[in-house]
Amino acid sequence: MYPIAPPLLGWFYANRRSLPFRDDPTPYHIWVSEIMLQQTRMTAVLPYYERFMKTLPDIPSLAACPMETLHKLWEGLGYYSRVHNLQKAAQAVCENYGGELPGDYNTLLTLPGIGPYTAGAIASISFGLPYPAVDGNVLRVFSRLYCDDGDINDPAVKKRCTGRVMEHQPPDSPGDFNQALMEFGALVCTPRSPDCPRCPLREMCEAYSAGCAEELPKKAPKKERKVQKVTVALVRSPMGVLLEKRPEKGLLAGLWQPYTVEKECTKEEMLALLAGLGLHSRCIAPLSPAKHLFTHIEWQLSGWIFETKDTPPLPENLLWLNGENRDAYALPSAFSAYRSLILQ
Ligand code: SF4
Repeated sequence: MYPIAPPLLGWFYANRRSLPFRDDPTPYHIWVSEIMLQQTRMTAVLPYYERFMKTLPDIPSLAACPMETLHKLWEGLGYYSRVHNLQKAAQAVCENYGGELPGDYNTLLTLPGIGPYTAGAIASISFGLPYPAVDGNVLRVFSRLYCDDGDINDPAVKKRCTGRVMEHQPPDSPGDFNQALMEFGALVCTPRSPDCPRCPLREMCEAYSAGCAEELPKKAPKKERKVQKVTVALVRSPMGVLLEKRPEKGLLAGLWQPYTVEKECTKEEMLALLAGLGLHSRCIAPLSPAKHLFTHIEWQLSGWIFETKDTPPLPENLLWLNGENRDAYALPSAFSAYRSLILQ
């Protein structure tokens, strides 16, 4: 086993970026930042993190936050189930652990949205406990260090990598070691152009010796996304633009969107649906076709702008968005192609 910890930690202490959650690594700060960083880049996360902490500085405030405010704080980050789970976990923490995250890896794992990676990050960085935190960065670095061409999405390969991380992790600085690996993967051993000539682990890196660093890690090709046609009705009335609330479960759960049918639908069919709501409308213009990619689904959006003079009482899942309530509702980025038309 090559001793990677001393040169890696030396590099980390000299090169680590100052980050608000790194500079003040409370369990709450590490938790929220790690959840935000899943699927989102660091530069994009930082302003969200600052705003989130200013509004919700502790776990009790997160537990009590109204859902629409929470959505607004998350607007643009996507994958809203992350913030739903954050709140569910915060409520469980208030109920069972006095409003503070428990300093125990296995208890952390019982909380909604906290998996092995996040539990490992909180346990090691905030509580100094000897646990791994293996994310895509760490898998890439270890695939290269050991010239391991196993598929990193294969649980057996991940397990092998986790074992190697723990063989190297110094018992007196597990949090620094885990952070050093994440930072090293983000800044030096990057996915497409690893900076091998300036790498402090070069002498110990089997992929570098073999000249195959850029070919690793190996990943099985992703399954093709299922294509879903989506028809949007952007309905304008003297009261504003019509929004509807999505169901509380499933894709974009509980978020507000323009009136939408999740299938291909003709203008006449859409006019009939609107008339059924008491909104007799006329078509103004077609919407430009747009596309949005979710993890497993591709939405292909199209539709029309409609105008109506009708403003009947609306059921609970519909409302008019206008100048007065515009800042209260987060619009999912799946509809970003129509955002300016909706907020006009
Ligand atoms: Fe990564 Fe290159 Fe360093 Fe190996 S030598 S760890 S591939 S940056």
